[in-house]
Amino acid sequence: MDDTLYDIIVVGAGPAGLAAALYTSRDRLKTLILEKFMPGGQINNTDRIENYPGIERIDGPGLIQQMQNQVAGFGAEIKTGCQVTALKKQKDGNITVSCDEDKYIARAVILAPGSDYRKLGIPGEEEFRNAGAGVSYCGTCDAPFFKDRQVVAVGGGNTALEETLHLAKFAEKVTIIHRRDEFRAARVLTEELLEKANEPNSNLSIKYSTVATAIQGEGKVQSVRLKDVKTGREESFFCDGVFIFVGMVPNTDFLEGFVELTERGFIKCDCAYLRTNTPGVFAAGDCRIGAAMQLATAAGDGVVAAMMVKQYFRDPNWWSEPVSELLQPGGW
Ligand SMILES: Cc1cc2nc3c(=O)[nH]c(=O)nc-3n(C[C@H](O)[C@H](O)[C@H](O)COP(=O)(O)OP(=O)(O)OC[C@H]3O[C@@H](n4cnc5c(N)ncnc54)[C@H](O)[C@@H]3O)c2cc1C
Repeated sequence: MDDTLYDIIVVGAGPAGLAAALYTSRDRLKTLILEKFMPGGQINNTDRIENYPGIERIDGPGLIQQMQNQVAGFGAEIKTGCQVTALKKQKDGNITVSCDEDKYIARAVILAPGSDYRKLGIPGEEEFRNAGAGVSYCGTCDAPFFKDRQVVAVGGGNTALEETLHLAKFAEKVTIIHRRDEFRAARVLTEELLEKANEPNSNLSIKYSTVATAIQGEGKVQSVRLKDVKTGREESFFCDGVFIFVGMVPNTDFLEGFVELTERGFIKCDCAYLRTNTPGVFAAGDCRIGAAMQLATAAGDGVVAAMMVKQYFRDPNWWSEPVSELLQPGGW
């Protein structure tokens, strides 16, 4: 047991956790970040970021290195290889955070364990997993890299349709495949997609009742194996890229019983101040309900949570005040 009392423990050193720690440590709050692997989170997996405001283009590890240097410069401690397995609220209001045998104590906690893209689990998916090789899980991030190329999108929910419409602004041809014979996305989105697909010379087409069974190529994606689930017929379908939009899986198993989660495991919090149902515990980034699942919004969440920590320290009763009574024009 480390008996140092930290002001803040941040769980997860992705963009949300690092941004939170930047603000808390710069505010001279004693900050510890616990990270199960290495700093960076999901963005470490990309070599091209073009939508982080103020930086024209950078690779994920490069951006994270700078964030990490900035955080360390203000005195935050980072412990890597430290998977948080449990949290407990003490009678005195402090929170114990356990990483297997090791225990740490803090006055407040910012949860930023992120999410992972749900995988199809088919051959080739892992091998070609990055936009350069042809498999992507984020149209908003990677569509421009497929300008004038042919891509397949997989999925049928809101994100899948929205991202497919975005892809169609760049790609020469987009084919969306869906395992059912109708989309389960909101009607307005479905109508927009169908309208676009029915335009004369549209670059968007739909294959219903179809699943992808393998992604194929040499060095990069060259085709995807498709199966019609009604007839069982299979075909190799030419494409330069496969976008997989079948949902996100939040890394929140260890939080069950400690904070309230949605059915799908996202942390419930108020989306203005990021307070969970456990006083002193905030949620930030891709792990929370309503997250936009972007680098800039994850960093923004980290900043909000870090600023709200101070309000909680000033007045713990603030925790139970409804958002509607706190909102004021021009800021909180
Ligand atoms: C390939 C790829 C490309 C992308 N490109 C872009 C892009 O160009 N632009 C963009 O805006 N977004 C992009 N994104 C999305 C962006 O990376 C995420 O929205 C962002 O990383 C979310 O940040 P986060 O801090 O909330 O979570 P994460 O990045 O997921 O970080 C969470 C961290 O918490 C750690 N962790 C999890 N559980 C525990 C635990 N129990 N104990 C301790 N540590 C734990 C994880 O190891 C991880 O380091 C991309 C994502 C991927 C995968």
